[in-house]
Amino acid sequence: YSGKTGNQLLGEHIRKLSVRDRKSIPVVCREDTSVYDAICTMFLEDVGTLFVLKENGILVGVVSRKDLLKSSMGNQDLQSIPVGVVMTRMPNIITCHPEESLLSAASKLIGNQVDALPVVKEETDGLEVVGRITKTTITKAFVELGEGASV
Ligand code: ADP
Repeated sequence: YSGKTGNQLLGEHIRKLSVRDRKSIPVVCREDTSVYDAICTMFLEDVGTLFVLKENGILVGVVSRKDLLKSSMGNQDLQSIPVGVVMTRMPNIITCHPEESLLSAASKLIGNQVDALPVVKEETDGLEVVGRITKTTITKAFVELGEGASV
């Protein structure tokens, strides 16, 4: 018997959860995608954040629901505003790596007050997006831990 408390065991269990095993598929658009089309993509794909990529798949920005709401106020033509002018841009994007712990990613979500992190791999010309971690990812893991599933 290890003599560890239930909490210590739970903590060890939590720290073993990884971004690689938990990430979901990223939903992406281009910088020249219109605000209108970005809103459609959010509804169709049922996500709250889009990752904005260059032609070569390299991360250039992130656009959230509030970014799109803000740009939709007033009588602007949403078809003519590109996402590139309303998104948060590199290098100000908080990211995580596949090898990182889910706990570390969760801490970044809370610490930076954002809903989603792109999972990235370093390439010569920038960061390639390979996945997505959101508050839902963390909530799912939490529920599974609470229900005693082997996560
Ligand atoms: P919402 O706007 O729907 O509440 P967020 O709280 O995630 O969603 O976004 C708040 C702001 O932070 C937005 O301006 C968005 O562009 C930006 N943002 C979202 N995710 C990230 C991220 N991973 N790194 C940096 N900025 C982000």
